Amino acid sequence: MSNLVVTYGIKPKEMVQEALAAIDAASTINSNDQIGIKPNLVVDKPSALGATTSVKVVAGIIEYLHKAGCHNIVVLESSSIAHSTARAFSVCGYDKLATHYDVKLIDLKKDKTGTVTAAGLNLSLCQTALELDYLINVPVLKSHCQTGLTCALKNLKGCIPDREKRRFHSLGLHRPIAALNAALKTSLVVVDGMCGDLTFEEGGNPVSMNRIIVGFDPVLVDTYAAELIGLDPNSIEYINLAEQFGVGSANLKKAEIIELGVDKRPPLETLASPLARQLSKYIDARSACSICYGSLIHALARLKEDHLQSRLPEKIKIGQGFRGRKGNGIGVGACTAAISSNLPGCPPKAKAIVEFLRPHCGIKVL
Ligand code: SF4
Repeated sequence: MSNLVVTYGIKPKEMVQEALAAIDAASTINSNDQIGIKPNLVVDKPSALGATTSVKVVAGIIEYLHKAGCHNIVVLESSSIAHSTARAFSVCGYDKLATHYDVKLIDLKKDKTGTVTAAGLNLSLCQTALELDYLINVPVLKSHCQTGLTCALKNLKGCIPDREKRRFHSLGLHRPIAALNAALKTSLVVVDGMCGDLTFEEGGNPVSMNRIIVGFDPVLVDTYAAELIGLDPNSIEYINLAEQFGVGSANLKKAEIIELGVDKRPPLETLASPLARQLSKYIDARSACSICYGSLIHALARLKEDHLQSRLPEKIKIGQGFRGRKGNGIGVGACTAAISSNLPGCPPKAKAIVEFLRPHCGIKVL
């Protein structure tokens, strides 16, 4: 059995089934298994914007499972902090998918939770995810403004409650993400590499990549994905930690990788955008949630269009590390409420941040 299968083309439903057949996924599933499909619906935006898993990819998985005699299937997700999973299910086409294929959608924000200890951390996980026999992790291949990459390992963050997501950020993200993957085993990864965002995890800068990547080992998949978009996997701490915690192997040299439809492979010369890295020099982030940090990056990108960001008198403070800390400066989000000039909100919207920051750049608000 090969370790990774990559298919290229423009028909995701067919490509997924081709890749799953090539890796012989059916041989690893029992027909009476309770199967959970975990897409990435971090926000309520259509997959064409680069942030969310295409419903066509999930349709391909369900059709493959049905042909293999597997019918106990649920689709489960908890969208990002302050975003409605129900709305994401609707906007992204999952409501119609559920009706068409008779599968259940589970909003994990409403789920019970259980505690699991892994890699020395007590983790709170959604109960439905814990009770699955077979978890199919279906991330989007994207960049992340804090961790560099978001793919299979980070996608499991949608299987924890919102309060635990906040705690993950306060713990620096990498270690808890790796521990989460030790606590909750991914059985199969199907990466939606059709259209991703190589700047932010929330989409808006879509890049057509026209590929599906399938594997059983999320560490190997993420290592491959990082290299694909021009990142050094060794620089992504949660990949290294997940390997240390026994989640999988980052050794691509030993992996057998099969590529299908290589004549349809698009060039990937313009991948990782340096914009988020450039803008991060205007930010003093301490344990900031991704959703908050991403909004600030978006706001700075808007200010950059008017060449205003360089007029900021100092770095913008953001994140849970500023909670209760009094001081002078500019703070974004509820966590920096004690900073002299503060924009409230948890998280504040990018538009509100732009309006808040303009006066700090010397622009009079009429
Ligand atoms: S204000 Fe921002 S950093 Fe603080 S908890 Fe809310 S989302 Fe997270």
